[in-house]
Amino acid sequence: MRITMVGTGYVGLVSGACFADFGHQVTCVDKNAEKIAALKRGEIPIFEPDLDRLVEVNTRAGRLSFTTDLADPVSHSDAVFIAVGTPSRRGDGHADLSYVYAAAREIAASLRDFTVVITKSTVPVGTGDEVERIIREANRDADVVVASNPEFLREGAAIRDFKHPDRIVVGTDDEQARKTITEIYRPLYLNQAPLMFTGRRTAELIKYAANAFLATKITFINEIADLAEKVGADVQEVARGIGLDNRIGTKFLHAGPGFGGSCFPKDTRALIKTAQDYEAPIRIVEAVLAVNENRKRAMARKVASILGGSLRGKTVALLGLTFKPNTDDMRESPSIPLVTALQDLGATIRAYDPEGIEQARSELTDVTYCDGPYSCAEGADALVIVTEWEQFRALDLEGLKQKMAYPAIVDLRNIYRPSDVVAHGFKYESVGRPTPSAS
Ligand code: NAD
Repeated sequence: MRITMVGTGYVGLVSGACFADFGHQVTCVDKNAEKIAALKRGEIPIFEPDLDRLVEVNTRAGRLSFTTDLADPVSHSDAVFIAVGTPSRRGDGHADLSYVYAAAREIAASLRDFTVVITKSTVPVGTGDEVERIIREANRDADVVVASNPEFLREGAAIRDFKHPDRIVVGTDDEQARKTITEIYRPLYLNQAPLMFTGRRTAELIKYAANAFLATKITFINEIADLAEKVGADVQEVARGIGLDNRIGTKFLHAGPGFGGSCFPKDTRALIKTAQDYEAPIRIVEAVLAVNENRKRAMARKVASILGGSLRGKTVALLGLTFKPNTDDMRESPSIPLVTALQDLGATIRAYDPEGIEQARSELTDVTYCDGPYSCAEGADALVIVTEWEQFRALDLEGLKQKMAYPAIVDLRNIYRPSDVVAHGFKYESVGRPTPSAS
């Protein structure tokens, strides 16, 4: 199959490289000329495990190429995927569809033979109808079907997720489009990944419902963690105790600083807006979003409380800035409001992240960036674990203590056992777990 991927970001680049790896002929297009120039030089603009190897192998094999010019690849393609960004629209929280519609207009002009245009971006219900209207208006003769194929990959495990999906959702009623998309995903289908065909609007809603449900699960356990702290219970044991029930499941039950990232915040906001527009408000998701917003600043108060209530004149060292490990993505990371809140309370901030510092620099000001966890701890009154990178799981606690001005750790990811940290002479706070007193 000949495929054009419009938008070469986290989703477009991973999907394009994986489709090429299946044996398809893929052209990745992006408006950002610097990004395309870097990819042509063999440089990967994002951090995603194993992506560099996948891109290199498939580029060398002649199956994967990069361009800023959409017209030529689109005119020769069986399928054109739209994988451009759909950020929150400034002001009202609706999904900003301007990139999707601009891409649709450009694609329309270059369509030749039968082509399936497939929206992979996360888009509100009804967007496929509008994409189809735009294409037909711009090119009356186009032999085209517009389908939906939402993407469920997670950053940090994107290639594995793409190649071993729990399901592939395809929204179209058109038989020829179904055949084309089945052929594209055939290698996964043979691996028994369920290919689920639905109507286009249903596919669009499935993506938002999935993200909103996961965000709800996280927020639920975070509120249980707050209660556990008040009543002297352990949220990790509660999570295990409920998660072993098959109807609930153990995943997405890790208490922490609140969800962030490039998807959950904007997708819950967009779903809330769509539901309100259709006069079917989803109150549970409205509550999830509000609770999650308040939580991030509450984490700063947790840091203040371990130092006796005041952060004025204190130095706080943050380990981890990205919204989760194994990515350099800083979009809506909980570290951003946390840093701002700590600074508002008078703290000086030092920070280290294995991959995210370059992106963090444009989001956070007045932060001293360090080159490792121990240099970050230098002179700090409190060390806060914000992101659970593997390399933070087995720190030399004795070494850390010697660097710090005061031995206090706030573990927002519950990656240490409280008794171990306390035994090393630290004051320690985590999320939803009791801290044993030092003996
Ligand atoms: P991104 O910002 O990393 O990439 C989008 C790319 O599209 C950018 O490089 C931009 O320059 C390019 N672009 C914009 N308009 C263009 C045009 N007209 N022609 C060519 N290129 C254009 O975004 P992303 O994180 O890859 O997300 C893309 C979509 O996928 C979003 O709707 C997102 O919600 C969804 N999604 C993201 C993830 C994730 O983990 N990042 C997971 C599932 C779904």
